[in-house]
Amino acid sequence: MKISVPKEIHPGETRAPITPGCVTKFAKLGAEIEVESGVGAAAGFSDDDYAKTGATISHDRKNLLHSADIVLRLRKPPVEEIAWLKPKAIHVSMLDPFNEKELIQKFADCDISAISMEFIPRTTRAQKMDVLSSQANLGGYKAVILAAEHSNKIFPMMTTAAGTILPSKVFIIGVGVAGLQAIATAKRLGAKVTAYDTRPVVEEQVKSLGAQFLKIDLGETGQTRDGYAKTLTEEQIQKQREAMKKTCAESDVVICAAQVFGRKAPVLVTAEMLDAMKLGSVVVDLAVETGGNVEGVAYDKTIDRNGVTIIGVANMPGRAPLHASQVYAENLFNLIGEFWDKQQKAFVLKMDDDIINSCLVTHDGKIVNQKLNGKQN
Ligand code: NAD
Repeated sequence: MKISVPKEIHPGETRAPITPGCVTKFAKLGAEIEVESGVGAAAGFSDDDYAKTGATISHDRKNLLHSADIVLRLRKPPVEEIAWLKPKAIHVSMLDPFNEKELIQKFADCDISAISMEFIPRTTRAQKMDVLSSQANLGGYKAVILAAEHSNKIFPMMTTAAGTILPSKVFIIGVGVAGLQAIATAKRLGAKVTAYDTRPVVEEQVKSLGAQFLKIDLGETGQTRDGYAKTLTEEQIQKQREAMKKTCAESDVVICAAQVFGRKAPVLVTAEMLDAMKLGSVVVDLAVETGGNVEGVAYDKTIDRNGVTIIGVANMPGRAPLHASQVYAENLFNLIGEFWDKQQKAFVLKMDDDIINSCLVTHDGKIVNQKLNGKQN
């Protein structure tokens, strides 16, 4: 089976969907690997690195895609490139499927089996394929490092001959994978950390990392079967903002990482809350790509709002491109490896398997995913 990996062309993308290490692993399975020249350049891998581990280097993107049995990518493809693929080819990448109806239909029309990596289920068996986790983890880390760099304070407490420096106060809103890593990173740097999430199960996880949990009674919040937050009512959000206002005002750094899977992120830090923050404090909005948790955040920009820095950097994991590529590529390899038939030397779509069932969006000319057909959320 031939696996083709084109270079990512989204502006500013630094990550690669394959590393030289994974080329070796795919080759051991018996797959033939061809990568587009420059595929790993921004992540720190040269064409030579890929060639040494057994990949062929292509300088013809159209032919690379047309000859593939499997295409591996990081981001969704430009819609016109879907028609370059052979019918029955398998396409694996993030696809933003709830918002990309036309793209998904095009995969179906071209008879491509498209896998959306965002739909890998949050189960123990699928953890090694979970790109949302592998990327969010690095995003949470980088958000804290960026905040520390922009802050006018240091994070740890220091007792010096010139007096005692008190630790910075960091408030994390939304404690999924990114939020947990942000807590751990801020704690390692010595900050005093408080965190909040609407899912009640999170309180214990926050405390186990040595942070304080801010308690807010919003009534019924709960979580979905996959562990995602449910959308709150406008009344609940208003109550949450009121309750967080004081903590934001007292904090030196606020990291927002609150998301609702497949929907626009809730606005949790309003202009009024920003007005109440101290001069020199920093807010990082990790939800900027899904609309943002912070009122007035600028997409992929860092702005000064009356002395408060608001960081809206998009693609935070891309700020650590080597490690982000390493874990993303491992996630893809783990998916392909799990369903690799050694006799046929092929990736076999086991239609009755819960992982394939959850992440396959188009097959045999149709949209096959229940989450997109409105039968499940
Ligand atoms: P996410 O990116 O969808 O959301 C981030 C966090 O924002 C979530 O914790 C969510 O509860 C929170 N949030 C939403 N609305 C909020 C609000 N108004 N105020 C405060 N917080 C709000 O989450 P994620 O990081 O993708 O994780 C989703 C779930 O998946 C979690 O339960 C996580 O533990 C679980 N998970 C499970 C596995 C596994 O078992 N294999 C792996 C990874 C994640």
